Amino acid sequence: EPDPTLRPDRQPEDADRALRPQALDEFIGQEEARANLRVFVESARRRGEAMDHVLFHGPPGLGKTTLAQIMARELGVGFRTTSGPVLAKAGDLAAILTNLEARDVLFIDEIHRLNPAVEEVLYPALEDFELDLVIGEGPAARTVRIELQPFTLVGATTRLGLLTTPLRDRFGIPTRLQFYTVPELHEIVTRGARLMGAPATKDGAQEIARRARGTPRIAGRLLRRVVDFAVVEGDGTVTQQIADRALTRLGVDGLGLDGADRRYLRLIAESYGGGPVGIETLSAALSESRDALEEVIEPFLLQQGLIQRTPRGRMLADGAWRHLGLDRPAGQGG
Ligand code: ADP
Repeated sequence: EPDPTLRPDRQPEDADRALRPQALDEFIGQEEARANLRVFVESARRRGEAMDHVLFHGPPGLGKTTLAQIMARELGVGFRTTSGPVLAKAGDLAAILTNLEARDVLFIDEIHRLNPAVEEVLYPALEDFELDLVIGEGPAARTVRIELQPFTLVGATTRLGLLTTPLRDRFGIPTRLQFYTVPELHEIVTRGARLMGAPATKDGAQEIARRARGTPRIAGRLLRRVVDFAVVEGDGTVTQQIADRALTRLGVDGLGLDGADRRYLRLIAESYGGGPVGIETLSAALSESRDALEEVIEPFLLQQGLIQRTPRGRMLADGAWRHLGLDRPAGQGG
């Protein structure tokens, strides 16, 4: 089984924070999103208004939280953070909203997991900076309206499709984050090595970048593990040879796929002749939740062209057969 620290999901003992860029200029990659945000931030600053609400969507570990923090810093306002599953009751959200100061950024991670009753409270807050709270019960119940300070909501989601339309429509600035290119990850690894005080050769950083699954969070984690190997088994320098040896020992292959990715591909190849096979079937056979497959495993395999999504289910593409070193069964097309 692969090292769970290699999954892009957030983990409690996240050491990621030390490598987090603090300003838009330090943030590498996502050129288009960054260029747009720079304009919106600057405009909000000049007008002295709260910036419009932003929705970041894309796979985990691509920098949604980091960008939200950077926005607050560049706007020169406070930053509050919470998440969809944490806001159980309407009152939980009301407590946070009534404590915001003018133009603050409120970050809600996993916003697709908001309870519908909480979401209802959010609509007038987003639109008119007002809260409608119901006081009391039964015939004596009445609604009181509370004025809020204008604020900016930054929502983040790995699953745009699970957002309700009314919620989606209330974000003026929807922004999709993309997987990073190898040159961008190379820059991120080089910067990370410098911050960790660990020398890395160009080839050493490149090896990690190539195998980081397009994801800065994974690049950071791989770098830390490779540095461990470099310190214990080398002279402390991240070289290509050390990086290759460390990553291979961690089960990260040449494309950056880990054990869970290969298990997924091999299952479709060996048990379903390359597909198509439905997501629920895969989920049961792999004992992984459907969400984990759709949010964490599949996006990168799709982006790499290793699998295809068809109306009848998932299918392996040619590259996946080659990568697994298997022959496509006779009579199988595309
Ligand atoms: P998300 O919220 O999308 O899951 P995060 O913002 O938490 O992702 O980013 C995960 C980690 O990856 C951060 O702690 C940071 O160390 C690193 N990171 C993300 N984007 C970048 C970037 N563009 N440049 C450098 N490091 C980055």
